[in-house]
Amino acid sequence: EAKSSGRGEYQLFDERMQVQVTARLRVENDMRHALEHDKEQFCLHFQPIIESQSGDIVCLEALVRWQHPERGLLSPIEFIPMAEETGLIVPLGEWILELACQEAKRWEQLCQIQRPLDISVNLSGRQLAQADLVTTISNTLSHANIDPSRFRLGFEVTETEVMRDPATAATTLQTLRDLGAHLSIDDFGTGYSSLAYLKQFPVDTIKIDRSFITHIMDSPADQAIVSSVVYLAHALNHTVVAEGVETIAQADKLREMKVDYIQGYLFAKPQPAEQLLILINQQQGRLYQTAPN
Ligand code: C2E
Ligand code: MG
Ligand code: MG
Ligand code: MG
Repeated sequence: EAKSSGRGEYQLFDERMQVQVTARLRVENDMRHALEHDKEQFCLHFQPIIESQSGDIVCLEALVRWQHPERGLLSPIEFIPMAEETGLIVPLGEWILELACQEAKRWEQLCQIQRPLDISVNLSGRQLAQADLVTTISNTLSHANIDPSRFRLGFEVTETEVMRDPATAATTLQTLRDLGAHLSIDDFGTGYSSLAYLKQFPVDTIKIDRSFITHIMDSPADQAIVSSVVYLAHALNHTVVAEGVETIAQADKLREMKVDYIQGYLFAKPQPAEQLLILINQQQGRLYQTAPN
């Protein structure tokens, strides 16, 4: 088989690779250009995180989008991995942080909810390894002048990214926490998590990955995993978020299982602030009507 395929297939393969490499280079160049000359191409969408007992919104997760001049609105999976590999995530991440602060001012003006809300920004491992990350963050924050009684900045880091250099990550996270930031471990359960490290990481919240939530209604294994994470997290004084909640049955189930917070398309898809603000103000911050126990 391999022999008979001959030269032709190698050429085809080379051409396909060539196309991929060229496409990727173009995205990279476009991003470089956008970061230098047209940062407004990047924007943040927000998705609420809800307290399962009360149904009240407690947090807004900021998720980056790229309004590409030719290719339309791009999702982070189409450009974050490249940005991480090339290091462009560092300037992009700084811009995302600035955007989050700008948006926080908008929320401050237009959000009618009095309860303090967290605004949670995703950090990549590459950013976590930057020696001046904490300085950048604290400078951006102090310039932003956000009312801490209404909005607090938070950060999400994945377990995989933290595990790349656990000692450095733990130090950085501790410093961020000292600044008053709320810290979450994102996509929990999908990486190599060591329980010993979980004990040491100075985080507030564990976000259980969507892959354990999708089949929660009919998978005893997923139920066991979620229960164990909840038990462990609470024993370590962490709160728990379930990601990817899409049905009322799932929300009710997770609430019953003592998952503290829930997030997913059921309540709201990630969307621009102005849109989400309408929903939140209309519903007075209550996005989930809890079923009677
Ligand atoms: P993540 O931080 O785990 O974010 C959750 C992702 O799940 C988001 O995808 C969100 O739209 C999606 N999602 C939320 N609820 C549901 C649901 O009910 N069902 C389904 N099927 N999906 C749901 P998104 O916005 O495409 O982001 C993907 C990933 O890209 C994020 O995963 C995060 O790792 C990364 N990312 C996004 N924004 C940033 C950023 O500003 N900086 C960095 N470094 N990474 C980012
Ligand atoms: Mg996240
Ligand atoms: Mg997540
Ligand atoms: Mg996830």
